[in-house]
Amino acid sequence: MNELKLTAQGEGYAAGTCGNLSTFSGKVFVKECLGSTGAEISVGQLQAGEALPFTHHHKQNEEIYLVLSGTCVFTLDGHDVEAGSGTVVRVSPTVKRTLRNTGNEPLVYVCIQAREDSLQQYTMTDGVID
Ligand code: ZN
Repeated sequence: MNELKLTAQGEGYAAGTCGNLSTFSGKVFVKECLGSTGAEISVGQLQAGEALPFTHHHKQNEEIYLVLSGTCVFTLDGHDVEAGSGTVVRVSPTVKRTLRNTGNEPLVYVCIQAREDSLQQYTMTDGVID
């Protein structure tokens, strides 16, 4: 398992790196390194032809996947959804999901987990210009 490397930390913030995404492999989670409290984020990579070795669902967290590079198919409750660089996929907790790289290059993606229905304010209703 890869780890995020802490690169900066201060009162109320932290930064880390998983290295160069063009040569990144495996998967890293950010919560433990950065101390996030409202979401878990991971960066994942699958080689050409590789698939996640399991199907899974969640108890309470929805997931949002952002494909950074490569092409893939998400299988969501048995339905295939093609995706590629720039595709964003939201998956409700109970949907059984898996992912496979269908291209000839590495697939790199970000997965954001957050509790479903927990978002109270966002963008201009939560952001304050200082
Ligand atoms: Zn998951």
